[in-house]
Amino acid sequence: MVHPIDELSAYLDDELNTENRLLVERHLALCPSCASMLEELAETKTAMAGWSGAIELPPDLEINVLRAVERESGYRSWIGSWSFIAVAGILSMAAFWFFFGGIALKVFSVAYKMLAAFAYLFSNMVTVAPSVYGVVLTAILLLLAISAVSLRRMLRSSLQ
Ligand SMILES: [Zn+2]
Repeated sequence: MVHPIDELSAYLDDELNTENRLLVERHLALCPSCASMLEELAETKTAMAGWSGAIELPPDLEINVLRAVERESGYRSWIGSWSFIAVAGILSMAAFWFFFGGIALKVFSVAYKMLAAFAYLFSNMVTVAPSVYGVVLTAILLLLAISAVSLRRMLRSSLQ
């Protein structure tokens, strides 16, 4: 027996021609499984009709959508302004590097010397005897002070 499963929905919607409708009705009379399937289909259809009635669009939906779009575009322009600030910052840094590149290199070399002094300090902390440690520490602090002063003087003279 061939079950007219595909035709059941069409039968329910009354979309079959007379011949096919009669064939389905005849089958349904003999086939309990198709009859129960038709019943389930009918129940589903009723439930769906109930849902579509329940999901009524709120009357202010259009206004809410428009407001959401407005918020979205505001958010976008906010992002745009921040990216503009970032680009401006990068460009000004590039300009600074272009005009004061020499100074920047000197600053880096001084910073590197400071870093080297610190590295020397930390590497000798454990092995050096306390008395020598005090002398080394004083020397390094003096070196750092000289570096800082020379850095300030260099920056001041270069920027004037
Ligand atoms: Zn059947």
